[in-house]
Amino acid sequence: MKFHITTFGCQMNVHDSQWLARALESRGWEEAGEDDALVYIVNTCSVRDKPEQKVYSELGRIAAHLKRDPSVFAAVGGCVAQQIGKGFFQRFPFVKLVFGSDGIAGAPNALERLAVGSDERVALLDFMPVYEEREHALAPVAGHSRQAFVNIMQGCDNFCSYCIVPYTRGRQKSRHPDAVLDECRALVESGVREITLLGQNVNSFGMDKGGAGVSFADLLRQVAVIDGLDRLRFTTSHPKDIAPEVIAAFGEFDTICPSLHLPLQSGSDSVLKSMRRRYTRDHYLAIVDALKQARPDIALTTDLIVGFPGETEADFQDTLDVMESVGYESSFSFKYSDRPGVAAVNMEPKVDSEIAAERLMRLQTLQNNITRKCLKILEGSSTHAFIEGLSRMQDGGTTSWKGRDPAGRIVNVATDEGGDLVGMMVPVRITEAKKHSLVGERNGEPW
Ligand code: SF4
Repeated sequence: MKFHITTFGCQMNVHDSQWLARALESRGWEEAGEDDALVYIVNTCSVRDKPEQKVYSELGRIAAHLKRDPSVFAAVGGCVAQQIGKGFFQRFPFVKLVFGSDGIAGAPNALERLAVGSDERVALLDFMPVYEEREHALAPVAGHSRQAFVNIMQGCDNFCSYCIVPYTRGRQKSRHPDAVLDECRALVESGVREITLLGQNVNSFGMDKGGAGVSFADLLRQVAVIDGLDRLRFTTSHPKDIAPEVIAAFGEFDTICPSLHLPLQSGSDSVLKSMRRRYTRDHYLAIVDALKQARPDIALTTDLIVGFPGETEADFQDTLDVMESVGYESSFSFKYSDRPGVAAVNMEPKVDSEIAAERLMRLQTLQNNITRKCLKILEGSSTHAFIEGLSRMQDGGTTSWKGRDPAGRIVNVATDEGGDLVGMMVPVRITEAKKHSLVGERNGEPW
C-alpha cells in the first residue's frame, strides 16, 4: 500500500510523522510521492497562521487524486484534527480517519483496516490519562544520518495564555523512564550517535505520575552516559521548570551538546504576566547566567512573540534589551495574532498590526546582527561537524558536506576525497562565517 504524509508544525509533529511512516513500513506499506499514493496522511498544526485553511487546501489537493483512483482516502492527524474532529468527515467524505496526538498510537492499525476497503469512519480523539506506549518502529530519523528523536512526554499543563497546545495535546503525560532508556539504548546499538529528547516541556518530565518518580535531570544523566552516544540534546524547555541539576549537567557531561532552546517570548515582566509564563525577566536572566557559567560555550536560541495584547513600546524595548544581553544565536519570532480558544483572545488592548509588524522588523534586524557576531567570532576556531548530508553549496571539483557543530550550527565542509561522510564526525577549522552558517575545512581524520 502506498502512502504519503504531509506534515505541518513543530518538531514533535515531524517526529510523530516519522514514527507513523516507520510503523506503516513495518506492515509492508511503501512511502510514495504526492502523485502516487493511495493513502494520504496530513499531520496538522494549529499554532501558526490560518491553520485550518492550510489543512483544507491540502485536502482540496488530495481530492484531485480521486479522479486518478476513486479508492484514494485521507487521514488527518495532529492539533487541527483534535479541534475539528469528526467535522472533517462531513466536509471531506474521503477523510476516513482523524486522530489526535494521543490517538496516533492506534493510527497504523486503523489505517490498515481502512485500506482493505472498510467504509467506516474512525475517530481516535480521546485524551489518555497516561502516556500511551507506541509500538516499536526503530530506525534513525533520516535514513542513515544516525540522528534520532525520542519522545519523553506528551501534552502540557501550563496554559500559557496564547497557546492552544494544552487543549489539542492534552495534559502532561510523562513516558515511563524505562521505556525512554530502552529506546535510547536500542537506537545507539543500531548505530545512532545523536539523540534529541523531545517533549512540549521536557523540564517538567516526571512531575506527573507517568515519570515514576524520575526527574528530567535524572533521566538526562542516565541517557548522557549511554555507551556509544556522542551527542545528546533536548527540547523544548520552559524556563520556569529548568532545574539547577539540569543546568549543572551541561558542565558535567561531554555528550550533552552546548546548546539550548529557551523560549523567552517577551522581555517585559508585565507582558510575561499576561502571557502566564510564570517567570520574570530577572529569573530568566539568572538562568542564562547559570547556564553560561556551567558551559561558557553554550549557544542559546529562543522564541519571541511581538505585539502581544497590551505590549507598549517600553515593553518591546525590554525584549530587545534581553535579546542583546543574552546574545541569542538565533530566534523564531512572530507577530501575535488571535487564535480561537485561547485566553489572550479576550485581552485588550490589541496592538495595531502595523506597529507590531514594525517591531518585528526591528527585532529581526537586531537578531541578524547578533547572529552575525556570534558566527564571526568562530572564524579560525576548531570544532567537529557531524555530517548530515550533501551541502547545497557544491562547486565543481570538491564535494561539499553539510554538518553541524556540537552547538547545532550548520557547517559546510568541502573535501576532495571520495567516500560517504554522512554519519561521520569530521574535525574542521572554521574558515568563514556566512549569514546563517559556517564554512570549514577538514583538519583531521573523520571518525
Ligand atoms: S509551555 Fe506554554 S507555550 Fe509551551 S506548549 Fe505549554 S502552554 Fe504552550
